Amino acid sequence: MKLIQEGQTEVYIPEDNDPDVPLASASVFYNPAMEMNRDINVAVTSVYAKKLAARKSFDKSQITYADAFSASGIRGLRIAKEAGISAVLNDWKEEAVSLIQKNIEHNNLQESVTATCMGADKLLHGRKFAIVDIDPFGTPAPFLDSAVSSASFFLGVTATDTAPLCGAHLKSGIRKYAAVPLNNEFHSEMGLRILIGSIARAASKFDKGIRPLFSHATRHYVRVYAEVLNGAGNADKTLKELGFIAWCLQCRNLETKNGLAVFMNEECPECGAKRKMSGPLWLGAFKDIDFCDEIISELQILPLNKKEDAVKLLTVCRNEADIPFFYDQHMLCEKLRISAPPMEPFLEDLRNAGFTATRTHFSGTSFKTDAPMNIILEILQKQV
Ligand code: SAM
Repeated sequence: MKLIQEGQTEVYIPEDNDPDVPLASASVFYNPAMEMNRDINVAVTSVYAKKLAARKSFDKSQITYADAFSASGIRGLRIAKEAGISAVLNDWKEEAVSLIQKNIEHNNLQESVTATCMGADKLLHGRKFAIVDIDPFGTPAPFLDSAVSSASFFLGVTATDTAPLCGAHLKSGIRKYAAVPLNNEFHSEMGLRILIGSIARAASKFDKGIRPLFSHATRHYVRVYAEVLNGAGNADKTLKELGFIAWCLQCRNLETKNGLAVFMNEECPECGAKRKMSGPLWLGAFKDIDFCDEIISELQILPLNKKEDAVKLLTVCRNEADIPFFYDQHMLCEKLRISAPPMEPFLEDLRNAGFTATRTHFSGTSFKTDAPMNIILEILQKQV
């Protein structure tokens, strides 16, 4: 066993856990590369727990958090300790639960944290928690129903099955998420929007809606933090944020349409080529600006190893326009046979022409804008 520290929490992890190759086959899983993800998780939960406690007039320690796929317990232990709430840490592997128990004791959290050993579905179908977190290996799809039915207020979901979500493994993605993805330059955002759409559809079965407060796609995973809103009215409102996209491979023009039964012309209005259709997926906002500001402030005060990276990611996400999908500037320039101009002056010119234009955390060479393709190309050409 070796002792590691993240934030203000120390946990034991098995020696067979190779930090360079975190394997699902390690006796108990621990991935150091997810530290920033957990730092953000602590800040998000801390902010949300404070709001919830104030709104419901209960003490923060009464808020229950379920870490349904705990492994060493690092995520739930950090949240219990650093956000000051109660937690149930679950894993179906006995070895993991013994380690979680040892880590609870090491952090003196016996009063606020308990460990359980069962399938995540059994835990979540049987109990309600204020906050539910699911962080399985690969796809969260089979667990979305139980997670959303268990979560009274808030839900955190990780998906590491980016190939199915992003369209690289098309049939698998369709089976898991009942949605058709596009595997193109904005595949990472595609994955995030398909996942949120799938969470929204799971929630609606239980007469619940969702409001994403912060979501991001980072390297090999996507992560969604959403408020759960109870009531059929909220479910109906949430479903209105779903829709489809028609995208032209020829000229990169894209069009979105809200609704679960929509008609979109196959012919591209710009160049006449046949467009590809994708969906249903989430077309609404995937973050709330005020909430992002609060997470950034929380990150600043918490003692965290990955603070700088986390604040940088939050800041780009906070500032990126709520416009579904983006354009890769380099790809468009290649088509125009010009070299790519510096991003900021180009975005400034789009804004001066009366359009919204921002960078995006999904890709460093890309931008989001509501400008039509002919204007984008015209302004790009003016840069050289
Ligand atoms: N959340 C952890 C963290 O931040 O370090 C990592 C969790 S790891 C990706 C997934 C864990 O879920 C593994 O420990 C595995 O044993 C457990 N697991 C897989 N399927 C499960 C299921 N159906 N029910 C409960 N636990 C499960």
